[in-house]
Amino acid sequence: MELLFTIIGRAVVYLGLLMLIVAILGSFLIAYSFKSEKFIFPGFMLFSITLLENLVKAMFRLINMDDSIVDNVGIALKNKISISKFRNTPVDKRLIFFPQCLRAFNCPSKLSSEGMQCISCGNCEVGDAKKAAEVLGYKVFIVPGSSFIRRLVRKHKPSAILGVGCITEIKAGLEMCEKLNLYGEGLVLEKAGCVATVLDWDKFYEFIETT
Ligand code: SF4
Repeated sequence: MELLFTIIGRAVVYLGLLMLIVAILGSFLIAYSFKSEKFIFPGFMLFSITLLENLVKAMFRLINMDDSIVDNVGIALKNKISISKFRNTPVDKRLIFFPQCLRAFNCPSKLSSEGMQCISCGNCEVGDAKKAAEVLGYKVFIVPGSSFIRRLVRKHKPSAILGVGCITEIKAGLEMCEKLNLYGEGLVLEKAGCVATVLDWDKFYEFIETT
């Protein structure tokens, strides 16, 4: 019995050490990728983020670095992995989801079963962006929450999704895409919040026009 406890104890220590080493290496690669915008060993980075997210973030905090870098690099990696499949998906099989917080604070749109019905009043960029994407063949929705997204995905049966949102929403959206075998791409808001959030619209237009 004593031998068994010794073996288990050692296994736990070795496992802990292994996790620590993976987290340290993963943190180093993530920080380097963020600074250089070059992904080295992307599979290893994604592995460390997926399995050891909290430990990797703790490493960042330990050296006074912003731990949201971990989320940003994770999202960029997942985007990179999906991009060629997204690109090969016919545009009419792609959906775009905008969060409702991107609208102007005085937005006159009304809520329907397909999300907020934008009337292109001109008070925010969403109306023009929606039109531009629809001309290209995308179906575009402005949604108040993730339950709408799940319902619209069930209804319209897309193969690929471009989601706009805060880091938390994009992470959840990309995980949903993985579970449903959809090709997901995420664009993170420049400024998150409850109303009048900010998106880098140049990035959005560049994405839909070139992808
Ligand atoms: S353009 Fe559309 S989303 Fe923006 S404020 Fe007007 S109705 Fe609302």
